[in-house]
This record gives sequence, C-alpha cells and structure tokens, in this order.
Amino acid sequence: MILGCIADDFTGATDLGGLLVRAGARVALYFGVPADVKEVDADVAIIALKCRTEPVDSAIQQATEAGAWLLKQGAEQLYWKYCSTFDSTPQGNIGPVAEALMELTGHKQALYCPAFPENGRSVFKGHLFVLDELLSESPMRHHPLTPMTESSLVKVLEPQVSGSVGLWQRAAIKAGQQWPDTAHIIADAVEFDDLGSIVDQAWGEVLLTGGSALAMPIPGRVQLNTTTPVVPEGIGTQSVVLAGSCSAQTRRQLQSYQHAPRYKINPLELATSGIEPIWDWWQQQAPTSACVIYASDNPASVIAVQNQLGTERAGALIEKALGDLAVRMLSAGVARFVVAGGETSGAVCKALNVSHVQVGQEISPGVPWTFAQTEHGPIALALKSGNFGGDNFFSDAFRGLNG
Ligand code: ADP
Repeated sequence: MILGCIADDFTGATDLGGLLVRAGARVALYFGVPADVKEVDADVAIIALKCRTEPVDSAIQQATEAGAWLLKQGAEQLYWKYCSTFDSTPQGNIGPVAEALMELTGHKQALYCPAFPENGRSVFKGHLFVLDELLSESPMRHHPLTPMTESSLVKVLEPQVSGSVGLWQRAAIKAGQQWPDTAHIIADAVEFDDLGSIVDQAWGEVLLTGGSALAMPIPGRVQLNTTTPVVPEGIGTQSVVLAGSCSAQTRRQLQSYQHAPRYKINPLELATSGIEPIWDWWQQQAPTSACVIYASDNPASVIAVQNQLGTERAGALIEKALGDLAVRMLSAGVARFVVAGGETSGAVCKALNVSHVQVGQEISPGVPWTFAQTEHGPIALALKSGNFGGDNFFSDAFRGLNG
C-alpha cells in the first residue's frame, strides 16, 4: 500500500477516494478503523473518521489509532485529509491531529495545503480563497459548526499547534526553493501544477496534509495506473436525497431540483414530534419518485434554531433524524442515496451500518458514487460535502448512475 489516508469526515474521504481513483489508484475506503480486515487489497486505504468537530483529545485518539492501523498494514506514507475550506476551530482539530501523526511517523515537519483549484479553492500568500472571495468573506463565515472568519491560514493554524508555523510561497515552490524550517508549513497552490510541484519536492520528506487535491499527484508520482471501476450490478432503482447541509451551494442545488416531492424538516417540530410525520409523508410519496428530505436553511433561520435548541443539539437531532429515516428507507427498498453534508453523511453511513465502500466514478469533482453491501443488498451512496457539486448535482448524480 502506497498511501494510508485519514479523513476528518466521511464526504472528505469519498472526495479524496474519487480523486485518487481518477488519478489511477485502487482505493479501499473504510468508515472508522476496520475491526475485521486482515489485509488491504488496494494501492490506497482511506479511513474516514467523523472527528472534525469532536473534542481535541478524542480527535487525536481516533486519528492516532487510524494512523497506527494504516502503518501496520504497510502504508509507506500517511496523509491527513481535511476540508478544502480548512474547517476548524481555534482549538483544532487540523493542527493537533497533524502533531499527533508527526509523532507517529517521526516526521519533524508537516505541510498543509487545502487548495482544490478545480473547485475554486486556492491558497495565495497563505490566504485561502473560495472562488473569487477570501475564505472570511465566503459563505463559510456562517457555517453552523465551524464558522471561518480568518483567511490567513498561518493565523488559523498558529493557535492550534505547539510548533512554529511558516509559509512556503508559490514563487519559492515554483523556483524549487526549500520550504521554511518551521514545524508546520502552509503551502500556496493556485493551479493543479502547483500541487504537483509540492508533491514532487516534499513527498516522503514531510507529513503531507491537505484537502483532497494535494493527494492527486501522488499516484502518478509512484506510477500507478488503474482504470476506473464500473458500477456494480443489481443496485435497485429507488432513490432519495437527504440534505443536512446549510451551505449556499446545497441550497442552490435544492432550488434547482424542484420537480421532486420535497419535505422541509422544521427542527423545532422535530424536537417535539420526532420523525413519524416525515416518515408518514415519505410513505405516501414512495415508491414512485426520488423524494428530497432536507433541513437546509438560510443562516438567519439556522441561528434562530440554534438559539432555541443549542447548536450541538440542533445538529445532532437533525443528523439522527436523517440517519433513522435512511435506515427505514433501506428496509423499504431504497438503494440509491444522495446525502448532502459532511456531518450528515457520517451520520447516515453510521446509521446504515456501512463500514466499507468501493469508490467509483466521480459525479462532479470531489464527489464520486460509492458502493456498499448491506443486509438488504447492494446500495449506491453519493456523499456530498455541502459546498461541492454544480447547481444540477442531484439530477447529475442519478443520471450518472443510470448511464
Ligand atoms: P456541510 O458539509 O455543509 O458542512 P454538515 O452536514 O457537515 O454540512 O453540517 C451541517 C450541520 O448543520 C449538521 O450538523 C446539520 O444537522 C445542521 N443543520 C442542518 N439544518 C439545520 C437547521 N435548519 N438548523 C440548525 N442546524 C442545522
């Protein structure tokens, strides 16, 4: 195994898997550290954790366990994958987990580059841009769990780590000049070639950490060239969209998918009535169409809900509701699930008891279909990070599976 990856959420893991498959690697993806796998039969193993917003100690413990497992399986290098918008809080968990993995691998330095040029995430002079806006001016400033109000990644990382933080600027990377001698290195990247230059120079020398795109040059560098897997046979056609992301892009995608029957979850009603009204509604619609069930809302409404229920409780309540609904739908014959939201996807996979997926072709950059076996037969899951996918993502997804 060339590479062992640890991802801080489930959609981040599928994003990484999709890009590595595109780049020519065979990818096995595990949700959590697998208890029953003796040997990984793949070029890359990814362990998806759900630790982005966990307390720091718990995130460190989970990531260390995952890293140790991957090294034991023969991973030549580790890769720490987080969001391309560097989602974290002043406590962590990006920096503290990197420091724990450095201890595990013996690396003295860790390099950080969340850039994903194809999806409009770029880092220039250490500042992260989302499309044409600085991170702190992008919709990420309103994220329900990890609002990002600072664009300088050096400033974001500094309070999270005990070691020094330096910047490896684009001009220096292009000129092949050595990275700074700090324990932590933020690296610029605006174009895909910049990521290739980083990997060419730093592969094996430092602990690589980043978004999914930084890993993409790795299969080429180690000369992997596997063709993309096809859709497995026998997957039922009944479909559903479950959306827990409040990102601007997911809300646009919901707008564009107007033709499907839709149910908007009211979190305050959910807190008192549970999922039965939603389930009753779905049963009246199914099995004819791909329904949409969503809690996604605008920032003002989300804050109003959080003020009433508490931020964590509101998030957990909605995640549990969508997970419980997915379980009932699986028993009722749904076999194609599109899930919007990183935390939401984690909750749905855990509820469905899916522990291992095969990564297939991408629907759009960073969002592949994945395939799993369940006690009710094979299923397809598209796990979408809130910000990812074009406006017609939901239609594109179902079309991609049929075509
Ligand atoms: P993203 O990928 O956009 O970050 P996530 O699923 O990771 O999406 O995070 C969104 C969080 O917001 C989840 O915990 C979800 O349960 C919560 N959430 C969704 N809708 C609402 C709402 N209407 N009010 C409050 N919280 C919400």
